[in-house]
Amino acid sequence: MVGERIVNFNAGPAAIPLSVLEKARQELLNAHGAGMSVMEMSHRSPEFKDIIERAEAGVRKNFSVSDDYAVLFLQGGASLQFAMVPMNLCQEGKPVDMIHTGAWTKKAITEVKKVAEMRLAASSEADKFTRLPAKDEIQLSSDASYVYCCSNNTIFGTQYRQFPDSGDVPLIADMSSDIFSRKVDVSRFGLIFAGAQKNLGPAGVTLVILRKDLAERASETLPSILQYRSHIKAGSLFNTAPTFAIYIVGLVMDWIASEGGLDALEKRNEEKAALLYDAIDATNFYNCPVAKADRSRMNVVYRIQDGNEELEKKFIAESKAAGLGGLKGHRSVGGLRASIYNAMTVEGIKQLVDFMKEFTRKNG
Ligand code: PMP
Repeated sequence: MVGERIVNFNAGPAAIPLSVLEKARQELLNAHGAGMSVMEMSHRSPEFKDIIERAEAGVRKNFSVSDDYAVLFLQGGASLQFAMVPMNLCQEGKPVDMIHTGAWTKKAITEVKKVAEMRLAASSEADKFTRLPAKDEIQLSSDASYVYCCSNNTIFGTQYRQFPDSGDVPLIADMSSDIFSRKVDVSRFGLIFAGAQKNLGPAGVTLVILRKDLAERASETLPSILQYRSHIKAGSLFNTAPTFAIYIVGLVMDWIASEGGLDALEKRNEEKAALLYDAIDATNFYNCPVAKADRSRMNVVYRIQDGNEELEKKFIAESKAAGLGGLKGHRSVGGLRASIYNAMTVEGIKQLVDFMKEFTRKNG
């Protein structure tokens, strides 16, 4: 623990790097010499313009985003993107190819069906989403409007190592729970979106990275606020933006750069995940149901004795008392889940591993 702070394994909203919080605290009353907090500034002031431009520049630099892409800070969470993506990118008479890998793609599928023909390109539902569809199981149509996938399945703990190859059809990815955790070749995607509340900062802002030409697919009859085009034109200030959240995203971008960028973070995230999976695999007391090749480095889901709910309850209560918070699995699947996003330190993982060993000794 750092002072009163717990080791935070929450799935989202989730831990934010301590130095970012400290900087925000330092600037809370008087940001950038403006004599006020970022929360109190006009979103159209020069001070805020500087903040949002720096946040965008940070995104572009850390993620190597070219000028062919727009970087947008929107609202409505990742969930609004489930609807905005099909509303903007579907083309007349062309289906949408969906790769179904869990609860979040299910929600996205529901929204696609409202506006277009949905084709299930692959699904791992029969295996309870404990793996991702293999390359040869994914059946893509050459005439699709786009192909959709979720890069990291927050609830089921799977994550693509290699993204599906969609050829000339734009690939769309929900990267809510692993964006900026590793290097990604943005040029392979038509659109990437992510709610901020895991790896980017606080809830309330959604990052959208979109190939600019695709924004032109939308009908002008779509409500303006639902068109990417409007947000591109307005530089994410179509309406009052979530200013404080964007400011924190900017600080997180500075933090990522200061940590050595995505190369360094990816390496650390691999190391963290390996420490934890090794501890799970070391005994029969814990088990991870996810296929090894598809295991997430962000959300580690596991069970005690294949689902001993009594012991899992005890684990959650005792870990919390020991200063390790947020280890309860998602309510839809139960069990345990450690969300170990960028802000989680190697030291935090070691504390969890030590706790797990001690818990096994007492209860195994
Ligand atoms: N996609 C993924 C992968 C998520 O993990 C979540 C939230 N946990 C969402 C979408 C939905 O995000 P929001 O609540 O911001 O709409």
